[in-house]
Amino acid sequence: MAKRFDVAVVGGGIIGLAVAWRARQAGLSVTLLERQGTGEATSRVAAGMLAPVAEVEFGESGRRVLDLGLRSAALWRSFAAELEEASGIEVGLRRSGTLVVARDADEARELERQIAFRDSLDLSTERLLPSAARELEPALAPTLRLALQAPDDHSVDPRLVLAALRRACELHGVVVREHAPVAGVEYDGERVTGVRLEDGDSVLAGQVVLAAGAWTSDLGLPPGASIPVRPVKGQILRLRDPAGPGLLNGVVRFHGGYLVPRGDGRYVLGATMEERGQDLHPTAGGVYELLRDAHELVPGIEELQIEELSVGLRPSTPDNAPVIGPGALDGLVWATGHHRNGILLAPLTAELVARELTGAVAVS
Ligand SMILES: Cc1cc2nc3c(=O)[nH]c(=O)nc-3n(C[C@H](O)[C@H](O)[C@H](O)COP(=O)(O)OP(=O)(O)OC[C@H]3O[C@@H](n4cnc5c(N)ncnc54)[C@H](O)[C@@H]3O)c2cc1C
Repeated sequence: MAKRFDVAVVGGGIIGLAVAWRARQAGLSVTLLERQGTGEATSRVAAGMLAPVAEVEFGESGRRVLDLGLRSAALWRSFAAELEEASGIEVGLRRSGTLVVARDADEARELERQIAFRDSLDLSTERLLPSAARELEPALAPTLRLALQAPDDHSVDPRLVLAALRRACELHGVVVREHAPVAGVEYDGERVTGVRLEDGDSVLAGQVVLAAGAWTSDLGLPPGASIPVRPVKGQILRLRDPAGPGLLNGVVRFHGGYLVPRGDGRYVLGATMEERGQDLHPTAGGVYELLRDAHELVPGIEELQIEELSVGLRPSTPDNAPVIGPGALDGLVWATGHHRNGILLAPLTAELVARELTGAVAVS
């Protein structure tokens, strides 16, 4: 007779892996089903900013994402330490803060509005004049007009996190199945019974977590039980300074993009935001815009070597807030729609979903 798992997690990105690890730690038997290799989709492309304060947006869903982001950011330090201990892989957590910069009068006016907004929310930020900003980051162009410092917005290397989560899952007994595309959720009346694979095989499970990122809406669910998740395309460059580290100390964000230093002479320059469906093609226009904007602010990037150009699809709901918690069927749990913040939100998502799965505390 086929083995029945307590939990089947669909999708092996940062969200699915983190959920599977936490659920297994909570004592549940867990299988994770990934249609390609784990960590090969959007999470691998992400820059790795842990930036709830720099990212905060106006409006109700902006507040909700901020609340989740601040809670998850507070977990990151211990999450990283625990993961490193469990896997033996360092995850590249850098606590170096973020500088948001304005390069002309229009951008400076907008940044003043953003500073006032963050002040109204009592967020920890500082308004910096150009001279003070350039003291922190001497590579910034002298034309800089204004800056906002978010000292608690940090960064991590998502590729190291994915490798560590994968290792931790395996060491803790999560049954990871790669190249196992899920065709749909199976249910009996109002209760899920497992998932159906594309090859016709079934996996029996008492609960099913949907963490299939930008492809979550493709999973066969009964009418009314699905949620709309659309892909938002992002193009991103990975650069290396042949002279070694030192061009930038912390994350620098500007209108249209950001530069994230890894601390070893490598930098991530991202990212476009494009509504192009499932299109994964990089474009000359996308790369041009990224390099043009970054070069205006950090002219020294012209010496950097290009290591990689990649494209990812952010899983995004209509209001761009994630969906974490129980679905319309008994035993169905959502962990998707993390849009621009899936790396930041991974620790909290995993904790909330594990609580839901064990019935410990209602997800809030
Ligand atoms: C350019 C770019 C930069 C970003 N930068 C940041 C950042 O700095 N900080 C931050 O917090 N976030 C960032 N993000 C957002 C972040 O990458 C995402 O929110 C996060 O990766 C989503 O994780 P996920 O596990 O839901 O999705 P994914 O990593 O896409 O994982 C989903 C997995 O599900 C699998 N899957 C899909 N369908 C099926 C199926 N039917 N059966 C089995 N498996 C299936 C896929 O193959 C995939 O491996 C960025 C995104 C982009 C595109």
